[in-house]
Amino acid sequence: MPQYDYDLFVIGAGSGGVRAARLAAMTGARVAVAEEHEVGGTCVVRGCIPKKFMVYASDFSHEFKVAKSYGWHVEARFDWREFLTAKDIEIARLSGIYTANLGKAGVELFHERAQFVDPHRLDLKNSKRTVSAEKVLIATGGRPFKPDDLAGVEHAITSEEAFHLPHLPKRIVVVGGGYIAVEFAGIFAGLGVETTLVYRGSNILRGFDDDVRAHLTDQIERRGIRVILGGTHEVIEKRDSGLLSKLDNGIEVESDQVMFATGRKPYTHGLGLDAAGVKLKPTGAVAVDEYSRTNVEHIWAIGDVTDRMNLTPVAIREAIAFCETAFKNHPSKFDYDNVPTAVFSQPPVGTVGLTEAEARKHCGKIDVYLSRFRPQKTTLTKIDERVMMKLVVDPRDQKILGAHIVGPEAAEMIQFAAIAIKAGITKPQWDATCALHPTIGEEMVTMREKYIPPELAAAE
Ligand code: FAD
Repeated sequence: MPQYDYDLFVIGAGSGGVRAARLAAMTGARVAVAEEHEVGGTCVVRGCIPKKFMVYASDFSHEFKVAKSYGWHVEARFDWREFLTAKDIEIARLSGIYTANLGKAGVELFHERAQFVDPHRLDLKNSKRTVSAEKVLIATGGRPFKPDDLAGVEHAITSEEAFHLPHLPKRIVVVGGGYIAVEFAGIFAGLGVETTLVYRGSNILRGFDDDVRAHLTDQIERRGIRVILGGTHEVIEKRDSGLLSKLDNGIEVESDQVMFATGRKPYTHGLGLDAAGVKLKPTGAVAVDEYSRTNVEHIWAIGDVTDRMNLTPVAIREAIAFCETAFKNHPSKFDYDNVPTAVFSQPPVGTVGLTEAEARKHCGKIDVYLSRFRPQKTTLTKIDERVMMKLVVDPRDQKILGAHIVGPEAAEMIQFAAIAIKAGITKPQWDATCALHPTIGEEMVTMREKYIPPELAAAE
């Protein structure tokens, strides 16, 4: 008789948990997973996928404007309810596929909440069972949060509710400067909602390249988003005419909806980590080593709950590395260098590698190549849209350290740039690639002149 009910128990059937459960089961291990909401987790149900549908829906308004200058006359009307129904049908289909794939791999699914009672045993909340497992994987993800101490915060929503609003507001205030805030501001603005983005910092997208941040702010303002920087909410007042956001810089904005996208926290609440003896970092994330192992030998954690790099493909790669290590006797760790990321703003951002500031810090002197231009598609229109592309190069060995794009299809382009940069491509090798004409991407391989930022040019 085996000592435990399962070889592996996974808590959370999101991006990381589902992949880990399936891969472990495929090695012949007896695997179970608990999921308290829909299978698929944040990405499938209330993150990447529904958000991208919303970006697609929203971007049509821009395309209709462009279409007009090509001789098309489109009478467009957007139906929010119709869109939500179509989106929800697809999300349910995807969640069903994830569930079916777990079944096909032989994973037992408990559709309920799991909680540690001791390091090897977990309580299952609905079926009132206690199960035991030799290894446990914590893959419980993260949750958005609102500032509890803000008066009137109960009137505000987070991204979770934004996917299911009963109707589109006429005016919205989106609070935050991270990618989720910027993406939702773009979504609402494109759908015709009068949109204000409020951020307490000096510019949006902290951590991104400064030229990207400045360029994107300019571009989204051109698309009609009002960007208020250096402002923090003091109160949200409910009035007959709407919600009044009072900021500490004296600005007041009235809207029909306020959405907070000011960050996410690792979701460990009520998980019984004390009973299991699992330690947290001061940030609240589960502390793990580079193999995703916690301080308890047989308990592991991957994905957003560890707050390392909170992206779906990263959670999946951590899951793969975990299975190699824990079930295939092949210790593996994920390499977090040169992970490409995107902001599905309108226009979008694609980025990989170091920002200019990071590269200067690491290398001292660096070479920068930068280009700004009008994409061909909008040259027939009066829309003043600009693409920005930037390469950051180490002059000592000519290695490309970072690539940054703001413009149509930036995310698609950066995926491929990332292959070359991950492989260690040099600028001469990059330049040896022949351009593909006429495309936006060709500019990436034809940037020859070094760019000297104005502040450095003045110093030289
Ligand atoms: P999750 O996918 O969050 O899964 C955790 C699961 O655990 C959840 O289903 C939860 O219900 C379950 N759970 C938690 N506690 C328990 C418990 N005690 N018992 C049972 N079940 C439990 N990433 C990208 O790469 N690209 C994007 O474009 C992108 N867009 C995003 C947009 C938004 C609005 C948000 C919020 C996130 C976005 N992300 C994006 C991030 C991405 O969704 C996450 O990085 C990814 O889902 C993390 O996967 P995970 O497995 O760690 O956790």
